[in-house]
Amino acid sequence: MKKPKTIKRYCPYCKKHQDHAVYASKKKAPRSMSHGSKIRAKKRGRATGHGSLGRYSKPAITKWKMTGKKPTKKMDLRYECKVCKKAHVQSKGIRAKRVEFV
Ligand SMILES: [Zn+2]
Repeated sequence: MKKPKTIKRYCPYCKKHQDHAVYASKKKAPRSMSHGSKIRAKKRGRATGHGSLGRYSKPAITKWKMTGKKPTKKMDLRYECKVCKKAHVQSKGIRAKRVEFV
């Protein structure tokens, strides 16, 4: 899928249509209390208490969620206003195997 590098879009900060630069957002770092960090915290003796930390109470995620079923992913596209330099996220994602900026 081909996307233009600049697009005219509504900017909620300027409150009118402005030229926006389009780019794909980079993947963010995982949250601090992820599953792995909970295990590490437990090994150090912290965050102990009740429950199995979500390990044994439910089946494998592939059994109850549509994981890996779809061949494409929605791109996390960002639009940066060229006037106020604020970035906005897209309201509706589009599925595409590859996104090119032309
Ligand atoms: Zn703006």
